[in-house]
Amino acid sequence: MATLSQILAQIYTMTLLFFTILVLELVILLRSISGAVYDSGDRPLTTTQYLKLIEEKIPATVYDAAAEAAPECTVCLSAFEEGEAIRKLKCKHVFHKDCLDTWLQQCAATCPLCRRKLLPEEVVLRYRQRRNPPEYEGSDEELVYLLSALHGNYLRRFM
Ligand SMILES: [Zn+2]
Ligand SMILES: [Zn+2]
Repeated sequence: MATLSQILAQIYTMTLLFFTILVLELVILLRSISGAVYDSGDRPLTTTQYLKLIEEKIPATVYDAAAEAAPECTVCLSAFEEGEAIRKLKCKHVFHKDCLDTWLQQCAATCPLCRRKLLPEEVVLRYRQRRNPPEYEGSDEELVYLLSALHGNYLRRFM
């Protein structure tokens, strides 16, 4: 027959185990909640995701001289040729698919001609978030390269 101290020890172990599991479950729960928030919130967009959103919003079509009034793309200032991939905006302005995609990635998410907004602000912000950090790292790497090059030249002068 178990003594009182043995029973107490058992209760103690079980309580400890119960709380450990409880804490673990809480941690898992909190992680999944923060994960869910992270997913639905402002996670940075990759260029591929951004281009996919552009394609969904403004599907690319093929240039048909008979149907389009616009003779040239005002981004690259060259005349459209039959069968070229184009994007026609709601404002009726027409651009080469590649020209507009580059414009939307590097400049603004608006029509290059009339500045009409083409993508939701939130999408643009999420894309910019992604774009900015690597550029910063790149410039840092360049700086390190520049410094090591200068340093190399400096050393060579004395050798
Ligand atoms: Zn163009
Ligand atoms: Zn326009």
